[in-house]
Amino acid sequence: MTECKCCGNEECLNQDGLCDSCGPYVDKLKHELARVCKWTPMFEDSYGDYDTSCSSAFTFMDAGVKENGFKFCPYCGGVIEEIKEAEE
Ligand SMILES: [Zn+2]
Ligand SMILES: [Zn+2]
Repeated sequence: MTECKCCGNEECLNQDGLCDSCGPYVDKLKHELARVCKWTPMFEDSYGDYDTSCSSAFTFMDAGVKENGFKFCPYCGGVIEEIKEAEE
């Protein structure tokens, strides 16, 4: 007998051992966790202005992403990946 690993339902399970209702939810969650938001400095010289890959922008009052302890993009919830070089 097989049960859903998530809710324990004995329903038709997908290859991950999850039922029809949990499967899509867990897939979505995995997708969200893996999502990355790239933050690119807007200007070469100034420090603290970023364009984000989710089409927003963010300005720190002081220093940059790491110095302010930011890990997640406040707009899309993705994990921030700081791009070192300003884009052309
Ligand atoms: Zn389930
Ligand atoms: Zn973002």
